[in-house]
Amino acid sequence: MTPFRIQIALPIPSFSLYDYLPTPTHPGAEHYTPGKRVLVPVGTRRCVGLITAIVPAEPAELELAYKPILRLLDDAPVLDAHILSLCHWIVDYYSSFPGDTYQAALPPAYREALEGRCVQDKLREERLILSQSPDNNAPKLRSQGQQGLLDHLQANPQGCTLPALRTAGFTRAQVNALALKGLVERVHAPLAGTSSQSPSSRTSQPELSPEQAAVLARLPPANAFHCAVVQGVTGSGKTEVYLRWIQHLPTSAQVLVLVPEIALTPQLAQRFEARFGDAVVLYHSNQTPAARLSVWTRARKGQVRIVIGTRSSIFLGFKTLGAIIVDEEHDGSFKQQDNPRYHARDAAVYRAWTENIPIVLGSATPSLETLLNCRKGRYSLHRMRSRATQAKPPAIHILDTRHMGLETGLSTPLLTRLHQHLANGKQALLFLNKRGYAPVLYCPSCAWMATCRQCDTRLTYYQAANALRCHHCDSRYDVPAICPACKTSTLKPLGIGTESIEETLAREFPDVRVIRFDRDAASTQTKLERLLDEIRATQPCIIIGTQLLAKGHDFPHLTLVGIVDPDPGLFSSDFRASEKTSQLLLQVAGRAGRAHHTGEVFLQTRFPDHPLIQLLAQQDYDRIADNELHMREHAGLPPYTAMALIRGEARLAAPCEQGLQALMTSLSHFAAGQLTLHGPFPTAVARKKNRFHAHIWVSSSNRKQLTSVLHAWCIAESARQRGAPRAPGGFRWLLDVDPLDTI
Ligand code: ADP
Ligand code: ZN
Ligand code: ZN
Repeated sequence: MTPFRIQIALPIPSFSLYDYLPTPTHPGAEHYTPGKRVLVPVGTRRCVGLITAIVPAEPAELELAYKPILRLLDDAPVLDAHILSLCHWIVDYYSSFPGDTYQAALPPAYREALEGRCVQDKLREERLILSQSPDNNAPKLRSQGQQGLLDHLQANPQGCTLPALRTAGFTRAQVNALALKGLVERVHAPLAGTSSQSPSSRTSQPELSPEQAAVLARLPPANAFHCAVVQGVTGSGKTEVYLRWIQHLPTSAQVLVLVPEIALTPQLAQRFEARFGDAVVLYHSNQTPAARLSVWTRARKGQVRIVIGTRSSIFLGFKTLGAIIVDEEHDGSFKQQDNPRYHARDAAVYRAWTENIPIVLGSATPSLETLLNCRKGRYSLHRMRSRATQAKPPAIHILDTRHMGLETGLSTPLLTRLHQHLANGKQALLFLNKRGYAPVLYCPSCAWMATCRQCDTRLTYYQAANALRCHHCDSRYDVPAICPACKTSTLKPLGIGTESIEETLAREFPDVRVIRFDRDAASTQTKLERLLDEIRATQPCIIIGTQLLAKGHDFPHLTLVGIVDPDPGLFSSDFRASEKTSQLLLQVAGRAGRAHHTGEVFLQTRFPDHPLIQLLAQQDYDRIADNELHMREHAGLPPYTAMALIRGEARLAAPCEQGLQALMTSLSHFAAGQLTLHGPFPTAVARKKNRFHAHIWVSSSNRKQLTSVLHAWCIAESARQRGAPRAPGGFRWLLDVDPLDTI
């Protein structure tokens, strides 16, 4: 037998893979297929690692340098070859830690040191639930413990396993007593991974509009890689095109549909369920580990046809993946902010390419990265310019607010239009991307402003709660009775937020329901769904919302949209600001007049002549994208150059700056002129939670060069740092490839 080592990715912050020897119980190489998990010793701990490769070794080096694996956890790989290849690509392209990447690819249940067989058994494990048909004549007499157990089960409608109940402090005797009384039942069925909705009857299909039919006819066939971009204005019926495309694919083809956030796009999932019933399952991080495991297992076995999921579902294994759809492909939430920092859209394109299957990217306002790929002929572009229903797209009117008194944030013409739409029994949406009552609380005598103690930010004033809150670290403060600096005046709010608009509306429209929809009002999934239900059931009503409400919601009775303050987006130092602002505002504007009523949009601005405002009013995203691409090409910015940030942070500004300077010197030596480096620059909010943040811009016109140089440098640099003394000031750094947030 040729001697060999087993290469393993460990969930530790390191760029390296680690080598181990086989366990004495399984000496043969045939046991160690990449994609299986193992338990290994790491220092004094034990870790679950993932086998990435088997490498030949010299007999002499073996015994000395490497430790044996403690236990082989899986009989068969838990990650298939496609997923291993995807992980490998993420590690290379984003210079991410291999351990983090493979870990992200595993469903939570497989991250523990449990043998694969037992993980699957967990799914089938007996659970205890409240009896569905309780015997009302059952004796009422219950001990305190039994009542506690009933309450516990009430709070866990999915049921609890016996070990879980024991951990929670209940005894088998209590369980048996309640079972005898018929108050609880034992169930064995696996936890469902589907949404709580029962499969609805299949709805009839609408006749496609000519544009929809034309696009559908040109979408790629199964069994070959092709990336098609569907750019359709809001309401053009992109979802219907996806549904038909899936119907045209062979029935054996499983389909992965990636969405930015399931909670914010519930209607997409509902429409898939209405068309395909049980064949559709959801996969997202709000699900329990057991529910995720169930979807993960069924997708691998080919038991589900369509999975709708958020970015982590890019790691699901499928028996026969036949196509991928990425809805709202421009959405920034496809980029993961923690390790591994991948972009799910780009990972999806890579995956489609390696699996030789078609992929569709849909958006009303595609990202510039995607548009450039279309121009270069890598992706095909398919347009839908009109709405699928009879409704005409809403007109966008500019309201020049320079000479209007705007203390309350709402101009007279906008209020007048609000009155008219509400009198017709319709709904209106006011969009303001600022939570709270006012973004600033200040002293009119000495100009003191309330700021966060831990961050370089002003505190947002919340009137209803009479509190100040930091939107960066979430700290809360009491409102001082008088100015802490001059001790003479009381403090005053400055500027507007959703809470103050809500107050204005309540005064202006005392008989109309005003619904505020922002992260504060919709702080949990339940509250969010309750608010959405309320909006659907209330006419007339006014909704005051942040970007939380901008995504795929379809409110048929919404006919008026007011954009309260788009101006901050016009003057940001973020080079992506115009792109992000246009995408967001056009998405918001698209909420008006969805069904059979024509809608209208009013855009209040103090800069009516600003070119972006003009183009937005014309809803000319093509021109906006053209202008932006032109500017980016001249400025040498993405998507024309490949870019990465080295993000650094420390307890004080100086060590942060020095740490980054040292990295910059190291990288510029290493790269020997192949990369362009700028910085370090402090970030827009330099201090967050008492840590200082700064970054270095790294770019190259050659993507391959950027990827390979950075990856090699990260490995060399972290090896060098391992031997060096600890960096002063708690300095830490990380690499962010294709950063979306660069200020
Ligand atoms: P998009 O995702 O492009 O914004 P949707 O797919 O949400 O558009 O469609 C907008 C509305 O038009 C939905 O209410 C949908 O049911 C309806 N719709 C889509 N296609 C058609 C069609 N061919 N005929 C009639 N209604 C349609
Ligand atoms: Zn003062
Ligand atoms: Zn703070």
